[in-house]
Amino acid sequence: MNAEMRRRDWIKLSGLATGALATNSLFSDENRKGGKSPRQGVSHQEDEILFEQKLSVRYNVDVFIAGGGPAGVAAAFAARTQGASVFLAEGHTCLGGMGTAGRVPVFMQVSDGVHLLCDGFGRRVLELLQKEKNMKGPGTDIEALKRTYDSLLSEVDANFTFYTQLIAVQVSKGHLDYVVCASPSGNFAVRANVYIDATGNGDLATWSGAEYQKGDSAGIMMPGTLCSLWGGIDWDKWRKVRPDIHQPEGYRLKEAFAAGVFTIQDEHLTGMHPLGDSFAGGNIGHTFSVDGTDERSLTKALLWGRKSMKEYARYYREYIDGFQNAQLLDTGSLLGIRETRRIIGDHVLSIDEYKKRAIFDDEIGRYSYPIDIHPMRTGADTYKQHRKEFDQKYKYNKGESYGIPYRTLTPKGFENLLVAGRCISSDHLVHGSVRVMPACFITGQAAGIAAVLAAKSDRSVHDIPVDELQMKLKKFGAFLPNYKG
Ligand SMILES: Cc1cc2nc3c(=O)[nH]c(=O)nc-3n(C[C@H](O)[C@H](O)[C@H](O)COP(=O)(O)OP(=O)(O)OC[C@H]3O[C@@H](n4cnc5c(N)ncnc54)[C@H](O)[C@@H]3O)c2cc1C
Repeated sequence: MNAEMRRRDWIKLSGLATGALATNSLFSDENRKGGKSPRQGVSHQEDEILFEQKLSVRYNVDVFIAGGGPAGVAAAFAARTQGASVFLAEGHTCLGGMGTAGRVPVFMQVSDGVHLLCDGFGRRVLELLQKEKNMKGPGTDIEALKRTYDSLLSEVDANFTFYTQLIAVQVSKGHLDYVVCASPSGNFAVRANVYIDATGNGDLATWSGAEYQKGDSAGIMMPGTLCSLWGGIDWDKWRKVRPDIHQPEGYRLKEAFAAGVFTIQDEHLTGMHPLGDSFAGGNIGHTFSVDGTDERSLTKALLWGRKSMKEYARYYREYIDGFQNAQLLDTGSLLGIRETRRIIGDHVLSIDEYKKRAIFDDEIGRYSYPIDIHPMRTGADTYKQHRKEFDQKYKYNKGESYGIPYRTLTPKGFENLLVAGRCISSDHLVHGSVRVMPACFITGQAAGIAAVLAAKSDRSVHDIPVDELQMKLKKFGAFLPNYKG
């Protein structure tokens, strides 16, 4: 770490593109796009101040990564294997993002039934997690996953700190000069040759001025979910009945609605995933209309999410065999957010390309998870339509996958900025597939290696030799069946 602190110089924090400033201007954009305010009851007449502060440049590195979710960790790991110096800033207290702090209880498909699609970093995670985990079952042992990510970044000596929130960025003419982070020891700046946005929400790219889209054509985003941990479950008893999660009748939801168990009649029950002998990872309930880029909206959604778990506890105990003694043990310390911004890159991965199982010259990986869009509203019709439209229509057969081009990681107009993970450049429907964790490993490792190629050759991220990127990715272990080099 000290070697990376090549010099201790100073930067003045004033007039930068910050979260707070950017959020205000975006809010009015969204009003125009969506036609209505997502922040009712909030005064828009906020005073403005000019805030100045002299900051030290604490890190001078080849690659800076904002966010340590599955994409950020993959990016940092991959960049370090190419000999680059990195600094990763994670705002929360662990690596893994939604998959750890958000308590998302399982990995979605890692393969197409034949090939390990998230090979490379994903293989390392799965192998180490297998050794680390104490709890059997399809649900993720989240403590083991936290240790897995810690070990992998320690193995490659990647520099990262928790409690470190990216808060601002200085950009001149499409070049990111430095970023500012807030931490318990005070604010500091980081200079890098290349910056990777792995915040999930695309904060760094948005604050830099990148174009983005949010939600469907009306600007509506998928609901969030406050994921949870449960104990006291008799899985053997449950297995004897094993109701079909997609049949509200089997899950006796209508009876529970009629009995007034729930405040919201939400037919989309995503489910409880077995963990150990008597535990479960819960992905149940939805927080509708939440905007994951607005802390006021997130706060309201968290309050509701926690309250709604009491209703689910009653429902499971009274209506589902095996859950009579179920106890809620914990909820995520981050609200589960499925969808916010998609940063517009040189290419926007489209649903037509998904349908065609597209192959791209600049492919950095392939993936196959279905288009998983959760209903945006409640109601039986919505859920039935959702099942017909999304769960069945776009499904792939064994061995099928779609390509992810490098150009989805390169935001338009910036020479030293890449995105990885949930916020890459795709349309709303493909986002429903590419947002899940194994795909984030794929885009994260590619962003990490691409960043090093750009940093070491002093080229723009748009001009790196894609052949070389693919060759390095293949060597790293990535699944690239169409790369013939
Ligand atoms: C309820 C729910 C259920 C899901 N179910 C599944 C599933 O079953 N299987 C699956 O594979 N996927 C699932 N997903 C999707 C998946 O978990 C996420 O899409 C994925 O984790 C996104 O990875 P990411 O690295 O892009 O972002 P995230 O996982 O969101 O990680 C971003 C990280 O960046 C940090 N960060 C954000 N902003 C800043 C900042 N300004 N400064 C510093 N740090 C910052 C955050 O603290 C976080 O650690 C689910 C998601 C949700 C919400």
